[in-house]
Amino acid sequence: MIYVTDVSQYAFCPYSIYLRKIHKIRVVTPPMIFGDIYHRITERMEKRERVIFDIFVREGMGADEITTIFYDDTKKVIRNAVLRNKKRIKEDILKTIERLNQLFLRRSMEKAVLLRKAMDSYGKKDIYDIVFPEALTELSIASKKLNLCGRIDRVEEKDKKYYPVEIKTSTAEKYMEKDVLQLAGYALLLESKFGNPVDKGFIEYVVLNKKYEIEIDRNLKNDVLKIKTSVEEILNGNIPEKKRREECDFCNLHDICWGTERSYVHS
Ligand code: SF4
Repeated sequence: MIYVTDVSQYAFCPYSIYLRKIHKIRVVTPPMIFGDIYHRITERMEKRERVIFDIFVREGMGADEITTIFYDDTKKVIRNAVLRNKKRIKEDILKTIERLNQLFLRRSMEKAVLLRKAMDSYGKKDIYDIVFPEALTELSIASKKLNLCGRIDRVEEKDKKYYPVEIKTSTAEKYMEKDVLQLAGYALLLESKFGNPVDKGFIEYVVLNKKYEIEIDRNLKNDVLKIKTSVEEILNGNIPEKKRREECDFCNLHDICWGTERSYVHS
């Protein structure tokens, strides 16, 4: 089955798919490791927060108090996740913990405000399903019909409509074409799972605290399906051309393709 990330990677460079899929070459960079740890912590917190709320949060507590409860627990999860991955992390461990603490402090604050507002409106016992929606984080979907699968960072639901959210931990200022295609791939998977049309999605930069709404139209979805066919062709033996271009200087497969010299020559 083709992964949605294969489709977006193909849009970045078809040759990279050939290297990854046929030659099994995978270069893991520090930002990728950081992103991976971030997603694992998020997944863990999604499971814990409902229990933490249940046991420790009382009806009369203010948002600050609730923030502290969530944040104290999150810090423990962060520390454990970093220590478990310390062999993979190239930078100073304490620095990684601090960066993650900063990101998750914001999450704790937002969650606390949401909970406080919900409790004000409905009372504690009636808000579980509103503030802790089930399994909408790191949602894996596979469609045999589409021959496509993927794991969506977060799915937002409103009035039985579902929207994919791609979470980025990079400090890049703006998303690329491949990110939009990835979102469109997830939209196709959500449509196949829930049966409702998905016409938009979001790309969220957690470090920059920015969230972009992306329109996903039929053309974009067709592009995903066309690219998916091209990926299938590579898996069936078609070797894409290796072309030197500007993106090569930012590609983590650069040294494998071109040696160590990083200077794109504009023609
Ligand atoms: S270095 Fe250039 S040609 Fe090689 S995989 Fe990366 S983008 Fe493609």
